[in-house]
Amino acid sequence: MMNIPGIEPDVRMHSRVLMHPLAAPRCGIMLHYDDSSSDASALEWFHDPRCTNGYTWLVLDDGRVVELADPGMRTPHAGPCLVKNANSSFYGIAAATNGSVPATEKQLDAIARVCSAVSRHHHWVSPLLVGHDEQAIWTALYTTRRELWGKVGRKVDPSGQRADGRKIIDIDDIRRRM
Ligand SMILES: [Zn+2]
Repeated sequence: MMNIPGIEPDVRMHSRVLMHPLAAPRCGIMLHYDDSSSDASALEWFHDPRCTNGYTWLVLDDGRVVELADPGMRTPHAGPCLVKNANSSFYGIAAATNGSVPATEKQLDAIARVCSAVSRHHHWVSPLLVGHDEQAIWTALYTTRRELWGKVGRKVDPSGQRADGRKIIDIDDIRRRM
């Protein structure tokens, strides 16, 4: 199992079904929210046999870090994206929240800490940090509307769609905290 110095998960719950060898080298980190309504329901879902999506790390409201997969393996977190092999190319980090509840200060700090540790580990000078929404593209598998194929807009996380415009996770804010 791969261990990244500086990341000491509070919980490890690796699920074998979600892990496969990398199909491309890591080039950055993708941020998400998992669309859960509570930490408890988030944890329950990642134990559920019907769960087919997975991130490397899930960060709870209180800042606890749950490692869902071996960081050396790819997980199905990104789907088709502008960057090829996005599930491999990006580590996936999710805040346990949804499109209406902004990530907490503790969550944002913990996410930034994990991002910093990953970047140090890879010696990335200016880490490629992306949101799922700016990368996820439509394909024939997701829509019959041909005009959308290859275009972004398939996902709204981690920005969300709050009426007041506040982002659930603001990528620039995470960069400032790193
Ligand atoms: Zn996502």
